[in-house]
Amino acid sequence: MTHGDTIVAIATPPGRGGIGLVRLSGPRAIAAAQANLRYARPRLEAQRATLGELIDPASGKTLDQVMVTLFRAPHSYTGEDVAEVACHGAPVILNYLVQLCLRQGARVAEPGEFTLRAFLNGRIDLTQAEAVRDLIAARTLFQAQVAARQMEGALSGRLKPVKKELLELIAGLEAGIDFGEDDVPVPANAELAERARKIRERLGELAATFESGRVVHDGLTLAMVGRPNVGKSSLFNRLLNEERAIVTAAPGTTRDWLAETANLEGIPIRLVDTAGIREAAGEVERIGIEKSMRAIADASLRLLVLDLSRPLTEEDVELFRKAAGLGPLVCALNKADLETRWDEQELRARLGLNGPGNPNGGAADAMAYNTRVEWVRTSAVTNAGVEELRGRILGLALPGRDAALEGGMITDLRHRQLVEQSLAGLDKALAAVLRETPHEMVLLDLYDALRPLDELTGQTSVEDVLGVIFSTFCVGK
Ligand code: GDP
Repeated sequence: MTHGDTIVAIATPPGRGGIGLVRLSGPRAIAAAQANLRYARPRLEAQRATLGELIDPASGKTLDQVMVTLFRAPHSYTGEDVAEVACHGAPVILNYLVQLCLRQGARVAEPGEFTLRAFLNGRIDLTQAEAVRDLIAARTLFQAQVAARQMEGALSGRLKPVKKELLELIAGLEAGIDFGEDDVPVPANAELAERARKIRERLGELAATFESGRVVHDGLTLAMVGRPNVGKSSLFNRLLNEERAIVTAAPGTTRDWLAETANLEGIPIRLVDTAGIREAAGEVERIGIEKSMRAIADASLRLLVLDLSRPLTEEDVELFRKAAGLGPLVCALNKADLETRWDEQELRARLGLNGPGNPNGGAADAMAYNTRVEWVRTSAVTNAGVEELRGRILGLALPGRDAALEGGMITDLRHRQLVEQSLAGLDKALAAVLRETPHEMVLLDLYDALRPLDELTGQTSVEDVLGVIFSTFCVGK
């Protein structure tokens, strides 16, 4: 399948660089690219770079040295004939090269059109096309790895078997309805329900990966909370590995809040260092505090910093309760390098947490606060415990990081919504089966479950359904 016309674009970013690349795709790609080039070698081979010269057709003079790579359809990114001309990254040369290609009948490509053609020509499915976009947008190597796995088809690979089972279920029902009289067994409702439930379970597992997937894709916000002078700014810097926040010995000087993005093992974490929450002295400080409260509530995670070198105050305990009430909480017991005035046991007692106690927070505290709470001793001065603190943050933000990478996960909201729609269709189908609804009606719900999956991995046609029917049943013998 080709789209008739040939498109051309500068593939390298705008500006000057060592190398610039002009890319063409379509039936005239190779001819257009070659029209104004002169080669050392007489015959060009596909998939091999060949050295040549770009000739100015007006003067016949050499403008630049180029490397040309040809990819013949269908063995190319777009599935069409593709030519890539690498020249020096001079904007005038790149633009002139494009002009020459336009004169040869190419037109300027729309944004994303090369990938669109790859999709339209069946080279990649939609999730893979979106992965190309994500790979280009990746801010960390880990994000790039996840996008690359999806580009290879990790998500489609996980979806396809589920879709196949759904299709078989549909085909079974269709066959029972259409060919029921021809000895095709009509599946029993109990079996139908069982199969629908299995599909639902696998799809549900995939939907659940979005919790981590979203964090991988978007990163998360971590708000730092704590009384003035407990060491928030110092820890903030430690987490960032940079001296960004202004550290001072006078309380209340971090008036506003600071935000910086740290890279925690590939997850972009936006750290928000909030002003010390305390009785507002003046107007400016009050506004600052209000802003902080909002930032704290909006954050995905909270990091409460407490000072071990000064007695635990009622304000500390109150901050702990408030922060834990908002969601997952990591608590840094800071200044552990100094003489300590209290310990985890006292904190637990002050919080009214009973039981044997987990030194790192954990299950008992999770129950008490209906969220996960972890604590760790740190020193922003000696750096002790900071690495562990990173681990705790990451553990709360992204459980099962490596498993998610292997299995393919949902990182995109659009994908997640489609999977949810499919689950809703399955739920309706299941309920219908349990009510002994006629199979014609159950089928409608199953198609409702199939359609969103089509939008993820590509269309299921009537022929696909018929194909399954005729392959699994010997109809029309
Ligand atoms: P913030 O007001 O909570 O942001 O606190 P800062 O980060 O500005 O720190 C207040 C003071 O405590 C500074 O003098 C820091 O050097 C000191 N400080 C911070 N963390 C530690 C720590 O872990 N150990 C010691 N000994 N001093 C610390």
